[in-house]
Amino acid sequence: MKAKVLDNLCIGCGACAALVPDEFEINDDGVACAINDSVSEDNKELVIDAKENCPTGAISVE
Ligand code: SF4
Repeated sequence: MKAKVLDNLCIGCGACAALVPDEFEINDDGVACAINDSVSEDNKELVIDAKENCPTGAISVE
């Protein structure tokens, strides 16, 4: 599974990075980005939670 952040939608609230710090971080531009090429097995559920709870729908998973 891959996670992506659409940085034109992200408002940099930090919720995803707080929920799954191993998978998301806020970059120097103040928006979130996925840290890893693919989501670890252990973090899949949390990444889906982050996607569902992103206030702007900026996270996609494939
Ligand atoms: S939860 Fe959504 S809006 Fe907030 S930092 Fe993450 S991707 Fe951006």
